[in-house]
Formats: sequence, structure tokens, C-alpha cells
Amino acid sequence: MVVTRFAPSPTGYLHIGGLRTALLSYLWARRNNGKFLLRIEDTDFSRNDEAAARAIVEAFKWVGLEHDGVIEYQSSRLKIYQEYAQKLLDEGKAYKCYMSKEELDALREEQTARKERAKYDNRYRDFTGTPPEGCEAVIRIKAPLEGSITVHDGVKGDVVFNVADILDDFIIARADGTPTYNFVVAVDDALMGVTDVIRGDDHLSNTPKQIVVYKALGFPLPKFFHVPMIHNSEGKKLSKRDGATDVMMYKQMGYTPEALLNFLVRLGWSHGDQEIFSMNEMLELFDPSDINRSASVYNVDKLDWLNSHYLKNTPNDKLCELLEFHGVMLISHDKREILLDAIKERAKTLAEMAVLVSEILVSPAEYDEAALKKGYKEESRAILEAFAAALKGAKDLHLPTDYHHVMEAVVTEMGIGFGKIGQPLRIALMGKLSGPGLDNVMAIIGVDETLKRIESLLKY
Ligand code: GLU
Repeated sequence: MVVTRFAPSPTGYLHIGGLRTALLSYLWARRNNGKFLLRIEDTDFSRNDEAAARAIVEAFKWVGLEHDGVIEYQSSRLKIYQEYAQKLLDEGKAYKCYMSKEELDALREEQTARKERAKYDNRYRDFTGTPPEGCEAVIRIKAPLEGSITVHDGVKGDVVFNVADILDDFIIARADGTPTYNFVVAVDDALMGVTDVIRGDDHLSNTPKQIVVYKALGFPLPKFFHVPMIHNSEGKKLSKRDGATDVMMYKQMGYTPEALLNFLVRLGWSHGDQEIFSMNEMLELFDPSDINRSASVYNVDKLDWLNSHYLKNTPNDKLCELLEFHGVMLISHDKREILLDAIKERAKTLAEMAVLVSEILVSPAEYDEAALKKGYKEESRAILEAFAAALKGAKDLHLPTDYHHVMEAVVTEMGIGFGKIGQPLRIALMGKLSGPGLDNVMAIIGVDETLKRIESLLKY
């Protein structure tokens, strides 16, 4: 059985890079009818990370990724890590080191002065004497002293690490008994039966250390897939300056989970030149061995494009529901079908849709100066007056086409082009020269409101 996991260190919110690796792990587990676990790596036990964990769960809920079983918190597994550290001590695969901070600093300084890599010099590796007084021991694992460790990575291929360059007998438990990061990750992945570790390639250099732990404890190695980072357009690691990194910000901005997940799956993975993937298609097609080897570039235009695609294809009932989050209540609006059809082609996000809705439903508080200059001329008043009179005389105005016929009659009667009425009417209705089709706007707001807005402009 394939078991994957997402193992965030709680930073206060779920990062979109994190959501990408969570998604890939989720897809791979589900595709194989396996399990997808969620583990909070709160190894900084002094902090209360419940709020951060809640933020992660909330984001998972919003995008619809479900994890199996309970959320595991490393902070509540301390005893397990101590047991395994003790096991390694008992088997002579780890040892206590009594080096003080001063000694360690002095060693580091000497090595740096010699232009060597700063690393522990194994002085307590075979120590059998009496421990120095007043010094709390840390536990160090016996790492290989020479040779190399190869990470067989499903994305990068075989990556060979020269032991002399990257390893030493690293600490697995600090003097206060708390375990260290690389130790707990390996212990947990092994105990939780994780078969496929899919994570960011910023963790690739940790993998040899974790392999040392696996080997010492006699655990089978999982498969590793290190996913290249998401970069900005300048080729640097994505940061807050490049756009939102908090997943929940995307909800605020009016992106749909479908668009965001589609966007993220394509950041680093492809299937031919297909761009649009439903969840079912992702589940059918995703294979971590197809993850791209090079970094992917964050491109918000692509996300906007995907989001418009999903918005256009969202049923109106569902759109009404989604818009409520953006403060728009349309459930009982009798013209909501026309309204939503009129705007969903025009908006990239739900937030933009919400703005369009209020631009239509609320009469303009002011008129755009440039629009007035361009579209409200001497002759415009007479045209608007004629149109208002025609509206008053017309019966059964309901559909956009009904309004269109009235407009048509007026322009024919006056021998003018549509633009001559369209521009001032648009200013009257929306306060500016852009927006959805006027026939739609009038059908949505109705005759009385249309007349009111025309009169307001005439009085202006
Ligand atoms: N806790 C690590 C992080 O948030 C991830 C560790 C892992 O996936 O192995 O970066």
C-alpha cells in the first residue's frame, strides 16, 4: 500500500508551496488507494502551535484535501523518540557526547581558521571513561566515516553525497532530551509506514542524514521524490513580495479551490500540453516520476486564466454560494440568473465578480470625469430623455431583449447610431464607460431603477 504524508512545520499559515507538495502526496496516495497522512512537525516544543495547525486544517478543508486518520503532532510523540534514541544507545549505534558549548565553539573556530568544514570531531565516539562533571550529554548517532550515500530520488535520479562533505556524527537528542529534526522525521516516516516521501527539494540535503537514521534503526527506506521549488519570474525562490504565499489569501482574493489546485499541479508536473485538470483527471494521471526536474515559475496570469475558466463553468447556484463569502447575497434576487450570466465572463475572480455585482445593483455614487467628457455630449440629454419616455411607454419589460427593442426603436426613430445612446446610458447606469451589456443591466435592475438612474444623470 502506498502511504504518503504532508509534514508541515507550523509557521502560522499554509504556504502555497506546501499545498503543492500536499496535493502531489494526496494524489499519489488516492490514485493508489493508499493513505495520505498529516503530521505537524512542531519540534519546537516550547511553542504552542495549535493555532498554526488549525490554520493548516482550515486551508485543507477549503481546498478539499482530506487526510486519513488523526493529525499526528510530533510534540505528543516525545516518548517514542526517546525510546528510539535509547535503542540506538543500547545497540552502540549512538553515543553520549559531553562536549561543552565552549569546546564546540573552539573546535569550530579552529576548523574555520584551517578553511575546513566545521564538523564534530568524534571525540566521544569511543569514549569509555568517566563523564566530565556538570556537563549534560547530547546523543549523537554514528554516521559513516567515509564513502558516500546515494539518494535514489524519483525526480532527481541518483544523487550521490560524499560523506566527508556533508556528514558528521550529528545530534539526535539535545541535552534537555528533546530530539532533533532529522531524527524525528525518519523515525516518524518509518513508524507511520510512509512508503513515498514527496517534498520540496530544499530537503534533499537532509535526506542522507535521515537515511543514516533509517539504516541504524533497521527500517526500510521509503521512495523519495524531491520536488523543485517554485520560483518567481526572476528565478528566485517565491516570496511574499511576489504575491500571496498564504493559501487562505487565495480564498480572500476570490480564487476557487479547483483553479488553485489545477494551477499548483501544473507547477512542476505536466501531462503533454494539457492545462486544465479536474480533480478526477489529476487522480487518473498524476505520477510523481513525471515531476519536472527544474524549478517551475509562478505566474499569476495563468492562475487568473484558470480561475476564469472555472468560474465560467460553475453553475449559478454554486456561484451564489461562493459569492456570499465576498459579501454578496443573491440567493433571493429574482434576476440572479441574468446577473450571473452577465458577469461571469467578465471576472477573473470572485472578488471581481462581487465588485461587478455591486456596480450593477447600486446606483452610481459618482460619474467618472473622463467618461462624462467622452460620452455625455450636448445631444446626449435629448437622447436619454427620448429613451426614458420610450421606456415609460413600453409594456412587459423583463428580458434583456425587451430593453434592446426599446433602444432599437429609439435609435431608429432618431436616426442615430447605438453608440450615441449607449455611452450616456452607460454613464447613467454604471457611472463609467465599461461594464456588462446594457440590456442585461437594465433587465437586472428593472424599469423604475433604470429611469431613476437616467434622471439622476439628467439632473447632474
Ligand atoms: N517539516 C518540514 C517542512 O515543513 C517538511 C519535512 C518533510 O517533508 O520531510 O519544511
